[in-house]
Amino acid sequence: MVRVRFAPSPTGNLHVGGLRTALFNWYFAKKHDGKFIIRIEDTDLERSKREYENAILEELKWAGLDYDEGVDKNGEYGPYRQSERLDIYQKYIEQLLNDGKAYYCVYEGEEIVFEGNPLPNKYKLERNADSSIVIKFKVKKDEVISFNDLIRGLIEFNTNYIEDFVILRSNRIPVYNFCVVIDDYLMKISHVIRGEDHIPNTPKQVLLYNALSFNLPEFAHLPLIVGEDRTPLSKRHGEVSISYFRKEGYLPKALLNYLSLLGWNANEQIFDFKEKFKEFDIKNVSKNPTVFDYNKLLWTNEVHLRNNHIDEVYQNFVDWCNYCKIDINSDDVYIRKVIEISRPKVRTLKELYEFSLNFFKNDFEYEEEFVNKYMSKPWFEEVIKISINKLEKLDVFEIKNIEYVLKEIASLNITSKKNVFQSIRGAVLGKLVTPGLYESIEVLGKEETIKRLKRTLNFSNNITKLNK
Ligand code: GLU
Repeated sequence: MVRVRFAPSPTGNLHVGGLRTALFNWYFAKKHDGKFIIRIEDTDLERSKREYENAILEELKWAGLDYDEGVDKNGEYGPYRQSERLDIYQKYIEQLLNDGKAYYCVYEGEEIVFEGNPLPNKYKLERNADSSIVIKFKVKKDEVISFNDLIRGLIEFNTNYIEDFVILRSNRIPVYNFCVVIDDYLMKISHVIRGEDHIPNTPKQVLLYNALSFNLPEFAHLPLIVGEDRTPLSKRHGEVSISYFRKEGYLPKALLNYLSLLGWNANEQIFDFKEKFKEFDIKNVSKNPTVFDYNKLLWTNEVHLRNNHIDEVYQNFVDWCNYCKIDINSDDVYIRKVIEISRPKVRTLKELYEFSLNFFKNDFEYEEEFVNKYMSKPWFEEVIKISINKLEKLDVFEIKNIEYVLKEIASLNITSKKNVFQSIRGAVLGKLVTPGLYESIEVLGKEETIKRLKRTLNFSNNITKLNK
């Protein structure tokens, strides 16, 4: 049975690297009909925060990566949390002490004042002011230890390069390298899939597996994500947190599509990750660093935004508005129509919102360019009055008829055709770049279009009066 885990430390926001790791684990579990487990690694008590944990879990959910297994505590179902498993770790620490594979080490300042087992009575295990007591794992020298990495092949190391290392800190909390081994063993993790930055930790973990007579899982270390300059991706290259991409209006499916390509040769650029797992093969994951390309991500988003099913894009848009605390206060049929006509011209949900905002607001301000170039011109009022008149008479308010009427008005020689169309466009939507004019008017509907034309007429009358 394949069992994999994503094990974030809740010491900060979820980043693209973390989500890529979660995604590849999810792919692997789905592909092999296995389980995808989340384990919160919160033993760094000072840096771990519940709010980060909640945000990480919420973002995984947003991304569509549901986990299969967790713990039920008084009816509250949640992921495994290392801080709730300290008793379990303690048992294995004692086992290592009893087997002579670990020992106490007492420091006073920088100086080691005792090393060995048992701990002399004069040192108390509780934290005391002038000495700190840790437990270290004893590393046997002159041994060659190895593990197989599914992406990189056999990795060997000589224990002469590894010093005895702390497994239990002076605050009685075990360290990451220790907890991870106990948990991966007890949770029956079959494959440890994580970032390349964890390769240096693996030898220590292998030593612990061996010392506790646990079988090793398979390991797979995913390639490093780097910026254009080939240094590890970080804030210096641009925003890297998932919440940023979410706020900017990236679709979860587009983001996960793009993240899939960071290391995996998926044979195509655009796909639905929820289907693509069938083709996932860890053997096609590269060991070479992979460059994070913001432009390509944006392009991927644009393609998904234009081509994904309208129901899904609608839901993405509503979720995005909620996330940004924007209330567009319109019915869903109308929102869908606005999305349909606007999405060919935008790349993100944020752009979609900004581009289509005036469909949802009837008290918008008129763009300055529209006022200067059109609204303040002598022919403007006549164009709008005729438009009101003719559109009011339209019984079937459909795109064909709207087009016919508008073209008719344009051919009356009141002004140029372009002036007629731009005047009407600005009058109903307040700006000069909008979705197609006929579609826009159809979506607004007869009543709303007339209302907006009249409002504009009123507004332009006032300007004219002011100017006199
Ligand atoms: N908690 C570690 C991290 O956030 C992951 C450890 C692992 O996957 O083994 O980097």
